[in-house]
Amino acid sequence: QLSKRLARVGELVPEQSRLADIGSDHAYLPVALVLQKKVAFAVAGEVVSGPFEAAKKQVQKNGLNNQITVRLADGLDAVEEADKITAVTICGMGGVLIRDILEAGWTNQRLQGNERLVLQPNIGEKPLRDWLTVHGYTIIDEDILEENNKIYEIIVACRQEVRVAYSEKERLFGPVLLKKQSSIFQKKWQGELKQRETILAQLAKASGDQQVRIQQIEKEITEIKEVLSNES
Ligand code: SAM
Repeated sequence: QLSKRLARVGELVPEQSRLADIGSDHAYLPVALVLQKKVAFAVAGEVVSGPFEAAKKQVQKNGLNNQITVRLADGLDAVEEADKITAVTICGMGGVLIRDILEAGWTNQRLQGNERLVLQPNIGEKPLRDWLTVHGYTIIDEDILEENNKIYEIIVACRQEVRVAYSEKERLFGPVLLKKQSSIFQKKWQGELKQRETILAQLAKASGDQQVRIQQIEKEITEIKEVLSNES
């Protein structure tokens, strides 16, 4: 039984993909998708030996050795050309780490650029969207959900002929999430607003010149308020 978070990621993987799940831990996602017959072949990549062993056990236990290859490798180094990967999932890590994995894969050409990316950063969505924008990806779908009192975002991206230039605001809030304005999205940004207001109050009391930082936070607060009141 997948968590709500991973189940939603799985729904966003296209039917009959050849999947690479990077940072797979117990390989729960590829195992579930192969058992569902949604995916016929998957690579589960792990850089740490404990989770790598756990992934191998999980695949073996389910009798899926023929469909799922578990590799001990850093990021997209787990992918080989012969795998003919069409979708990549990278979930449950910070957005900056996901970005660095994509960047390394881009540089050493493990990432071909034609794969569907389904990414689930725990934090740091903005730097991840920055990377996707710079590398010509279109964000074709996004979702936001809550599980065990945590809010997660999922970003689905692929490269299309027409390049989209996302604004700073779209890269912060998510172009699709901004349009959907779901109740979880509102909840997330109400929390982010509170956090910034607390920081602002602390900065006002702090000694030294905090003007630049104060201005930045005030700008963000105005932006969040605008988005929450739908004035944008
Ligand atoms: N993807 C699973 C999920 O969403 O539930 C597991 C998330 S777990 C918190 C993150 C996993 O990514 C860990 O098992 C960690 O060892 C692995 N990881 C971190 N950096 C990695 C890298 N550069 N390459 C491969 N795996 C990595």
